[in-house]
Amino acid sequence: MIKVKKRRVLLLPGDGIGPEVIAEVKKVINWFNDKKSLDFEIDEDLVGGISFDKHGIPLTDEVFYKALESAVIMLGAVGGPKWDGVEFSKKPERALLKLRKELKLFANLRPAICFEQLVNASTLKPEIVSGLDILIVRELTGGVYFGEPRGIKPIENGERKGVNTHTYTSSEIIRVARVAFDLAKKRSNRVISCEKSNVMEAGQLWKEEVQSLHDKDYKDVELSHMLADNCAMQLVRNPKQFDVILTDNLFGDMLSDEASMLTGSLGLLPSASLGAKNKDGEMRAMYEPIHGSAPDIAGKGVANPIASILSFAMALRYSLDLDKEAEALEKAVQEALNDGLRTKDIMSDKMKEVSTSQMGDAIISKLQ
Ligand code: NAD
Repeated sequence: MIKVKKRRVLLLPGDGIGPEVIAEVKKVINWFNDKKSLDFEIDEDLVGGISFDKHGIPLTDEVFYKALESAVIMLGAVGGPKWDGVEFSKKPERALLKLRKELKLFANLRPAICFEQLVNASTLKPEIVSGLDILIVRELTGGVYFGEPRGIKPIENGERKGVNTHTYTSSEIIRVARVAFDLAKKRSNRVISCEKSNVMEAGQLWKEEVQSLHDKDYKDVELSHMLADNCAMQLVRNPKQFDVILTDNLFGDMLSDEASMLTGSLGLLPSASLGAKNKDGEMRAMYEPIHGSAPDIAGKGVANPIASILSFAMALRYSLDLDKEAEALEKAVQEALNDGLRTKDIMSDKMKEVSTSQMGDAIISKLQ
């Protein structure tokens, strides 16, 4: 059994803008080391397309073992058109799925927060999104993305059949529901659980298990159930009705992307993928911005590093028990925005456009 080293942070910048945004996270970690003596041990390695180019696979065993030893993995992004022709099992994205699955990172947390300073960046009316603060808890290692049988096979008449299997067990549902209820207690104490229990048996089981866990252990949290398609509609109609949304892997994928756009920019939103705590209270976790490798802007120094920096704030809070430091970092981001600093993706009238590294430096100067 490989032990988790408590202060070990593994940086996996990956492809495209990944290295640019993770470089800013590294500056922030170094700042905490230098100024707050937090002695994080930083390690850095290859993942995704860049690993494929060097080693012929998107995640080597060596990097995987480093990941197993690290309390925090900070991932940039993987993939890009350069690797479109690579065979499926060696695609950059397979590295992510392997890390999530093998490290058993079953709970994906995606906050969708609308920054007051950027209310106008949303495509929805300001009064609909102003003050928005939702947390989506998505199950990440089960459901249709992993279920067996799967594949494409020939059938009669020269046709082919594509098969994926949507499956959940009680324990898979209960462990992620517990995360959602526990987090709701630290927020507005409300969970809305989303599935398609009207047409899917796995959805019916989801609803029943969430309800019985609630009735047994979380009576003090307000729980309601919503069909996932209705949730998609309600998110654009009246998003502020939500506090914590609990949902499965497939619906969570869609709903969290939809929620992210309520806030205006992909470049602002962090995420955390958490595993279970062992008996010593140790947990593996990976933190990453929700955006991809943005090949269209890679290498230009214009990527927004805020999503990655806020991902590190989540790491401070959830993996390292440093709530005060997490708050300070989030506040520093707000203050840089208050000063009118904007990367290109969120630029608007009368604001000052800054590069990726200038935004990182400004946030660090606010930490001082
Ligand atoms: P994307 O998130 O990379 O980009 C979508 C749009 O948002 C682009 O116009 C991009 O310039 C912009 N954008 C994204 N992040 C930004 C940032 N930090 N600052 C400023 N602008 C930003 O999505 P895509 O174009 O669909 O995918 C590109 C590649 O990334 C694909 O190969 C895809 O598979 C991969 N991808 C990886 C991850 C991941 O590593 N977790 C997630 C999604 C997509």
